[in-house]
Amino acid sequence: MARPMTPDQWLKALRAEGVTDIVEMPGWRTNNRNHKGPFSDVHATMIHHTAGEGTGLPSWCFNGSAALPGPLCHDFLARSGRLYLVGNGRANHAGTVARNAYNAVLNEASHHPIPDAAEPVDGNAVSYGLECENDGTPNRTWPAKQYDVAVRVQAARCRFHGWSADSVWAHKEATRRKPVDPRLPMDQFRRDVAERLAHPASWNPGSAPSKPTTPSKPVPPKEAPVALSDADVQRIAKAAADEVWKVMAKSDGVYLAPTDDPQYSPTVTDPGHYWSGRQVMADLVRRVRDIQKAVAEVVAAQKKES
Ligand SMILES: [Zn+2]
Repeated sequence: MARPMTPDQWLKALRAEGVTDIVEMPGWRTNNRNHKGPFSDVHATMIHHTAGEGTGLPSWCFNGSAALPGPLCHDFLARSGRLYLVGNGRANHAGTVARNAYNAVLNEASHHPIPDAAEPVDGNAVSYGLECENDGTPNRTWPAKQYDVAVRVQAARCRFHGWSADSVWAHKEATRRKPVDPRLPMDQFRRDVAERLAHPASWNPGSAPSKPTTPSKPVPPKEAPVALSDADVQRIAKAAADEVWKVMAKSDGVYLAPTDDPQYSPTVTDPGHYWSGRQVMADLVRRVRDIQKAVAEVVAAQKKES
């Protein structure tokens, strides 16, 4: 049983977490849908994108529409990093959600599965919701400041309730209706929340919002090897296989891109900062083939000489 935070508790938690640019929208403390259903036992906090951008979004989130009345979230986070407090209580943000997705956040599982098609759970009853201003197109970046505040907001909720970062979920992880909401690598996002939670709320990591970890990649030899025995070839093949296995074993779909990748971006919020598991595998295969080719060339050269 986790009773939702009061408005005063939420403000205090946000400020302690270092969120300073806060707009309290008039009436936010009592803006809710409590007359339509429960919001008394919460176990998760969701992140969304708005799938649109503009200055009208705070009031849209506050009021909603005739078809979908507000509040549409608990907080709205602008691209500038400014946080608008929109509602307190039940909000129209998640809709129905899959049981397996909810169980993952409820039990704080490290694996967040693809949501089932059936959606028997009332997501608005059990989860807070943070809306972030992003148009949702594939290459639209998240400004570093906005990303940092998003991490702080979700960490503040987890810290208050004593939850782990695995209580954070994306709308796309809760329902098949929202397959790209939002376009964030969620395992990385949760790692960043977890890193905050490992420090006091006052922690300020500086300009870099995260220090993601990634498996190391095999490095091909700088010079062509000489006089390779069969044992050498076996050893190289085994080392390459071990590297592949290390990556496979840690597979969660998102890795740091190597800095020599032509598309590499040093900004953690850019897509170019990451590789998919498929890209990592293709790179490993290419490197192993390069090694095989180099070995064959050396062996051929040796035969010619002898
Ligand atoms: Zn959403």
